[in-house]
Amino acid sequence: MLAPLTTFGIGGPASYFADATTEEDVVAAVIWAREHGVRMFVLGGGSNVLVRDTGFRGLVLKIGVMGVEACGDGCFEVGAGEVWDDFVEAMTGLGLAGVECLAGIPGSVGGTPVQNVGAYGQEVAETIESVRAFDVSDGKFVALSKAECRFRYRESLFNMDEPGRYIVTRVRFRLRAGGEPNLRYADLQRRLGGMEGLTLTEVAKVVREIRREKGMLLVEGDADCRSAGSFFKNPIIGEEMLGSIAAAARLEASKVPHWPAGDGRVKVPAAWLLEHAGFVKGYADGPAGISTRHTLALTNRGGATCADIERLQERIVGGVKERFGVTLVREPVLVG
Ligand SMILES: Cc1cc2nc3c(=O)[nH]c(=O)nc-3n(C[C@H](O)[C@H](O)[C@H](O)COP(=O)(O)OP(=O)(O)OC[C@H]3O[C@@H](n4cnc5c(N)ncnc54)[C@H](O)[C@@H]3O)c2cc1C
Repeated sequence: MLAPLTTFGIGGPASYFADATTEEDVVAAVIWAREHGVRMFVLGGGSNVLVRDTGFRGLVLKIGVMGVEACGDGCFEVGAGEVWDDFVEAMTGLGLAGVECLAGIPGSVGGTPVQNVGAYGQEVAETIESVRAFDVSDGKFVALSKAECRFRYRESLFNMDEPGRYIVTRVRFRLRAGGEPNLRYADLQRRLGGMEGLTLTEVAKVVREIRREKGMLLVEGDADCRSAGSFFKNPIIGEEMLGSIAAAARLEASKVPHWPAGDGRVKVPAAWLLEHAGFVKGYADGPAGISTRHTLALTNRGGATCADIERLQERIVGGVKERFGVTLVREPVLVG
């Protein structure tokens, strides 16, 4: 069963399963799958997937390539199977800036470039220098520069432009020695309330505390974190759509939270749309629900199936569409 390998705790079996702890294992698995005409799904920490109850008909390849190698001048090449938050802890401990606000994000290092993880005003793309990956189409390893990874909001080459083509084995980061912590995000500024001279480790600790309070940190026994984090992306819309949302909410456009997203478009918090369409924290639909502490996290309240989560997803997407005319897009990857 794949359920125990995911943070949702949901999902049926895979026909075949393999652990890849070396790059040679990755290549061998790709060749095996090709020779046997079997589909393949690459799994990291399972924190951004929703696996169908029928499981995955094919080979699930779990990436466990480990190792952290210092390349000098704040540069580190890190195995895709390393736990992301362990890497953050190590870097902040060394006084290296660039990932401190990404503390507490679950999953593997190799999973971070896939959706360009971001939180509290920071995105992993800011510190990634290059990604080493096996190109399944060409059958060879490639080093993709940051520009080639085409990072944008929760999107990249890996999940949007060429999904399934690259298996990430190592990520090269460049961090800033002596760099100041990033304190751009309002929630973080509020919490720190003018505290000065905080170390990177202290900032990362505060970020983990905020996440824990919101059920966005993996904590044993906390039902609110039986999720895949934010289930919906924040929609990026045109100004006229913002006007329609405001009209539907009987508010002035300036009262609808939004921030610039480039090209004259704006990003609206999906959580605000959910709440104003009646999908509030603690909303329950049988064993599926909305976290009691974070509107955007759909949770497995105990014994939920993929079908339960999908039913709730459809209800929310339909409700928000009907109320505001905006179609929300799911963030986690549906497997199976
Ligand atoms: C409680 C909680 C809080 C979260 N908070 C945040 C947050 O603040 N910000 C944020 O951006 N995300 C957040 N997430 C989502 C998730 O943690 C990240 O997207 C994470 O980077 C996923 O990594 P993973 O290793 O678990 O990937 P998985 O869930 O295993 O896989 C996700 C996708 O990446 C692909 N993938 C994984 N590893 C590789 C690889 N080595 N090569 C190629 N493809 C690969 C998979 O095929 C799949 O398509 C949260 C999740 C949870 C459960």
